[in-house]
Amino acid sequence: MMAAVFCAQNGADVCLFEKNEKTGKKLYITGKGRCNFTNACNREEFLLHVPRNSRFLYSALSLFSPDDMMAWLENAGCPVKVERGRRAFPRSDKASDVTRALCSEMTRLGVSVRTDSEVAGINTVCEDGAERVRGLKLKNGSFFPSDAVIVATGGLSYPSTGSTGDGYRFARETGHPVTDLSPSLTGIELKEAWPSQLQGLSLKNVRITIFAGSKKRMSETGEMLFTHYGISGPLVLEASSILSGGSFKDCVISLDMKPAVSEEQLLTDVSELVRLGGAKTVANAVMPLFPRRMTEPFLIACGLDPHTPASQLPSSSRRAIAVGLKRLDMTPVSLRPFSEAIITRGGVDIRSVNPSTMGSRLVSGLYFAGEVLDVDAFTGGYNLQIAFSTGALAGRSAALQTFTA
Ligand SMILES: Cc1cc2nc3c(=O)[nH]c(=O)nc-3n(C[C@H](O)[C@H](O)[C@H](O)COP(=O)(O)OP(=O)(O)OC[C@H]3O[C@@H](n4cnc5c(N)ncnc54)[C@H](O)[C@@H]3O)c2cc1C
Repeated sequence: MMAAVFCAQNGADVCLFEKNEKTGKKLYITGKGRCNFTNACNREEFLLHVPRNSRFLYSALSLFSPDDMMAWLENAGCPVKVERGRRAFPRSDKASDVTRALCSEMTRLGVSVRTDSEVAGINTVCEDGAERVRGLKLKNGSFFPSDAVIVATGGLSYPSTGSTGDGYRFARETGHPVTDLSPSLTGIELKEAWPSQLQGLSLKNVRITIFAGSKKRMSETGEMLFTHYGISGPLVLEASSILSGGSFKDCVISLDMKPAVSEEQLLTDVSELVRLGGAKTVANAVMPLFPRRMTEPFLIACGLDPHTPASQLPSSSRRAIAVGLKRLDMTPVSLRPFSEAIITRGGVDIRSVNPSTMGSRLVSGLYFAGEVLDVDAFTGGYNLQIAFSTGALAGRSAALQTFTA
């Protein structure tokens, strides 16, 4: 939609093909229906939240930055607000207002929107040894001639919203390599059974560190949630982005439940609670250190019997509790599937796309924008901004190309 807006704004005749009955179906469910459409940060800070291929985004973010996006929405009649972590939302808290702004701008600029219109492929022709776009093949069998085509078909995540990976096929069919695709920003399934017993329990201000062998891959503080399969929540989504696409061999996720307290201090606290516990079970004695439901599964995970009388707890077990509070290890076995993942890692190989135009290096007149590209970011509004910025650049470049052709 943003590509269509920028293309029309730069003087081209634009037609948007959408296979669903309406445009922007995924936008409605973003940010839990509130649409965290960008992050109000500068370009350098933005790129720190893009773990792969961030430099590819320089030109796109220069043309259309988070500030530009916020101003654009305000001008399009959708007031915005910025919340904790610089996350930007429509002031109404309604994702539908962002979609409405995009749709009304498309109408104002004369974009012809064809819903229920599935694109089946891209038609190209070879002229003087060079490949160029001729138009689109539609699923209904018709051909739509065009000087330029922008592929903005999204990834593979939440396929019920229309993103079923068609763009990867279009890219391959026109000679563009597509890197390995895997779910990202999703829950993590664990080998251990104890986390599933805590399903629904959320922990705030905890730290998780990912180790691959002896190498530290990530260490962040935030909120996580235990689920029936393992773990999820904001901190875990970020961890999944680090793990996505890689091997889990020798990977450990280490949970620090008390990041602000040292192990020695915890040992003192545990020893004091155990001393005061007397005839109580160790589970009851150390309960003040945990969310209530967590005490027994935690002690079992540390190799202790929760029913041992506190008075009989050896010092090595007190140490084990203090160590467990700082370093409770969990073993990732897989990530939750595309149907639950917020984004897709991987996509059209950026080496086949010119970052200053979003144009293909192999087929003239062909452009790519959004999640179909091999660029992905952490949560916080970055992924939508990537879609808006690359869309704006692709739209503008496609329009300018049709005038210089
Ligand atoms: C639950 C959830 C919450 C999210 N929340 C946020 C958030 O708050 N902030 C954020 O930054 N990101 C969020 N994201 C990620 C963000 O929504 C995506 O990164 C972004 O929508 C990608 O935009 P896109 O235009 O590339 O693809 P999409 O939004 O997926 O749009 C692609 C469109 O192309 C259409 N299409 C596909 N194939 C064809 C075809 N063959 N013919 C015609 N049409 C076709 C699809 O129907 C779809 O409408 C969230 C994602 C999910 C799943």
